[in-house]
Amino acid sequence: MVQLQRFFDEYFMSEALHLARKGLARTSPNPMVGAVLTKDNKVIGRGFHRCCGEAHAETVALIDARGKTAGATLYTNLEPCVHHGRTPPCAEAIVRARLRRVVVESIMFKSTSASSRPRPKN
Ligand SMILES: [Zn+2]
Repeated sequence: MVQLQRFFDEYFMSEALHLARKGLARTSPNPMVGAVLTKDNKVIGRGFHRCCGEAHAETVALIDARGKTAGATLYTNLEPCVHHGRTPPCAEAIVRARLRRVVVESIMFKSTSASSRPRPKN
């Protein structure tokens, strides 16, 4: 049973990473983040951080789940934020949503654009 849950964990984390990449070159200076919400190993919500200043991936996934989040599992590639910035902290929204598990990969994708890529030194 533990092996099966590990399979699902890796599968849904892979989807969260795939979603994170959709923010490529648009989230800077924020990282690219994806989130998948599941219940009984079925997806009930998905989200990614589209653009700096817009809702974070976890919040988008919670909204996508339309309030059916109690007992759900969240997969995200980066630890949910706890600070008040342009958007409220995701950690508080996660607590309010009464999730059962939060699985974090902690891989940070930097969103780069052509102008922010490191330039070769002379
Ligand atoms: Zn956040």
